[in-house]
Amino acid sequence: MKAAVLKNWLDLELCDIPVPVPGENEALIKVKRAGVCGSDITVYRGKHMTATVPTVLCHEILGTIESLPEGYDGKFKLGQRVLMNPIISCGKCAACQRGLPWVCENLKLLGIHVDGGFAEYTKVGVDKLVALDEDIPDEVAILGEPFAVGQHVMVNSQVQKGDKIFISGGATVGLYIAVFAKAAGAGRVIISEINEPRRKFVESMGIETINPTETDAMDLMREVTDGHGFDIVYDTSGAPSCVLQMPDLCRCGGKMLSLGLSGDAYPFVIGKVSFKEIKLIGNRLYSQEDFEQGVRFLEDNWREMHLDRMVTDRLGLSEINKAIQMMLDGTNICKIIIDPTK
Ligand SMILES: [Zn+2]
Ligand SMILES: [Zn+2]
Repeated sequence: MKAAVLKNWLDLELCDIPVPVPGENEALIKVKRAGVCGSDITVYRGKHMTATVPTVLCHEILGTIESLPEGYDGKFKLGQRVLMNPIISCGKCAACQRGLPWVCENLKLLGIHVDGGFAEYTKVGVDKLVALDEDIPDEVAILGEPFAVGQHVMVNSQVQKGDKIFISGGATVGLYIAVFAKAAGAGRVIISEINEPRRKFVESMGIETINPTETDAMDLMREVTDGHGFDIVYDTSGAPSCVLQMPDLCRCGGKMLSLGLSGDAYPFVIGKVSFKEIKLIGNRLYSQEDFEQGVRFLEDNWREMHLDRMVTDRLGLSEINKAIQMMLDGTNICKIIIDPTK
């Protein structure tokens, strides 16, 4: 089968590899759509802290069930359209025992540590399959995994009605967080995004934005919050300049949530977090329940909120390096999806 294999950092090649053979309790999935994620780029650039090569990239996967384990008598059927939770946790470590399998000490992810979805077929544990409503189109349903991230961020940040929220970065994840936060009743939600076409797109989705090269985020904070600080500040950019500013933008006793995955080190004044008793919260993945709730949110709201518009670029698997380049250059407006049959 055709697959995009990350052979080494910065070296993604379209290869012919064998169709995966499902192990015990695994299903074989024929991939219909695969989403390109910012974390694929972190991996591609060799900046992910635990990724391994060679690996077929991609953890945002929609497909149909090609085979189920022998003797399987669960709710899924052959040919059924599904999403999949890409987390492979050990079930034995202290984190798993505490009910935190998404930060398993031995965590592996489809598309980062084991072969993922930029391929004609992939395999996944049957316990990681997520069912879909029949009437949600493939090109909307593929947003399910990013919405799982958004759902988990909402669980971690507990947005309250009327909260004033600042988000650095208006690429896909920043936009999902804004959509969820507004649905949760936030009073103001403002995204800071430097990329103009992306900023215009975010505005067209009904979200307030600033251009940080024109509007100083501190001035905005003073205007919006009378100088007291935002209730919640999210960083989805991973850019040191954005992260360093977070404690200054956040109110006393507020929350700071980081979604950057880069392993690069830089100086950060932790005393600012202590002085204001800011709650600093890391975010990585999601539980199976978050995944299912994120997908339900998408199914319930995609028409009314026009969430289908978030898929802005469609490419074939043969154009995978073009997709990576678009992500590197920031020329994708929102989500790029890959059709593995092309
Ligand atoms: Zn992702
Ligand atoms: Zn574990």
